[in-house]
Amino acid sequence: MPDFRYQDGELHCEAVPLRAIADKVGTPCYVYSHATLLRQFRSFDSAFNEIPHLVAYAIKANSNLALLRLLAREGAGADIVSGGELYRALQAGIEPRRIVFAGVGKSDDEIRYALKTDILMFNVESSAELRAIDRVAGAMKMKARVALRINPDIDPKTHPYISTGLKKSKFGISAERALEEFKLATTLPHLEIVGVHKHIGSQLTQVSPFVDALKKILLLVEQLAGIGVRIRHLNVGGGLGIIYQDETPPQPQDLAQAIAPLVKDLKCMLIFEPGRSIVGNAGVLVTKVLYHKANPDKTFLIVDAAMNDLIRPALYGAYHEITPVREARDKLKKRVLADVVGPVCESGDFLAKDRMMPLSDPGELLAVMSAGAYGFSMASNYNSRPRVAEVLVRGGEFHVIRAREEYADLVRGETIPAFLN
Ligand SMILES: *Cc1c(COP(=O)(O)O)cnc(C)c1O
Repeated sequence: MPDFRYQDGELHCEAVPLRAIADKVGTPCYVYSHATLLRQFRSFDSAFNEIPHLVAYAIKANSNLALLRLLAREGAGADIVSGGELYRALQAGIEPRRIVFAGVGKSDDEIRYALKTDILMFNVESSAELRAIDRVAGAMKMKARVALRINPDIDPKTHPYISTGLKKSKFGISAERALEEFKLATTLPHLEIVGVHKHIGSQLTQVSPFVDALKKILLLVEQLAGIGVRIRHLNVGGGLGIIYQDETPPQPQDLAQAIAPLVKDLKCMLIFEPGRSIVGNAGVLVTKVLYHKANPDKTFLIVDAAMNDLIRPALYGAYHEITPVREARDKLKKRVLADVVGPVCESGDFLAKDRMMPLSDPGELLAVMSAGAYGFSMASNYNSRPRVAEVLVRGGEFHVIRAREEYADLVRGETIPAFLN
């Protein structure tokens, strides 16, 4: 993570010491690097310069308005999966005609909202949904642009919870049924078929599943041409992995090299939906050590961040590097095999397990690395813990882009009925 480096023994984000941020906004807090975000987006976008394309950033990876605005100014579109994400995208100034809407359970309200805003297209996941969109569009006297999300039955070789393109997965329409579903779509009067969509999973560390899936989709595009359905948009999804530990994920240029020859004669706009690869290594979670605790056969570092702030270790057994904010230069500093755990009352509440690390003293700060994607966006108020602050660093300045929640925020919207008075 080139924008998070030690200078004079202190971990910095760009030119700002993380300690200075923690002193000002408290801990835990998420800290993002403006430079990393720009670089990641630009390198992704420019890798595909030779192909007409749209980079629709997957908002669910990190949906903070400031980050969305930054990406909007770079010309990013958005991949959304809910009405709430549409609202955020619009608030951030992302052009509606650069927004694509996926998800297996779109409600009538969400479909109406998206039609009213005139988004680029719906990525439709079932025939029931095709009919629902047709019905809602008809009632609004509109035509809805749709792409069908195809499940190519390709193993992305990633964690099962983030594999989405296998036969048994809830996502998309099976490749065998695809032609039939397209035929159905052509009979529905309030739909305009404009594309094909696939997204096989997240944290992909190999190009080959991506290419195999694309080949299957291209076969379908050919068959569709045979029945008079011309595809204008080919949405190949997101899923590019990042380095958490020792992975060697493909870079956007690798992906471009692999797919450019396959699509060069296709008169089609390609859509990409990267999330993790744009923001994952742009952010860290800064937390403070509260206590040490040694059970007979375990050492615990108890910190002030917990699974409600960053659920990936608990949910996926995900690895995040954890490093002291003040560099552990003292080689004599005791290293221990420790679990880094939070205050939440769950045994699943850990940020690291059996990790060989310096035994930081209570009061010291730690940075949980590679926490920019699926970190804050998956945070909850479990155990009535206010959600933490988010900070954006740009060069030598930093800006709070989401205030730490207060206790009053925790009960907002709750009411005690009169009969309990
Ligand atoms: C989550 C998701 C993405 C983004 O995946 P990343 O692994 O973060 O790049 C893209 N497309 C769809 C449909 C998604 O659900």
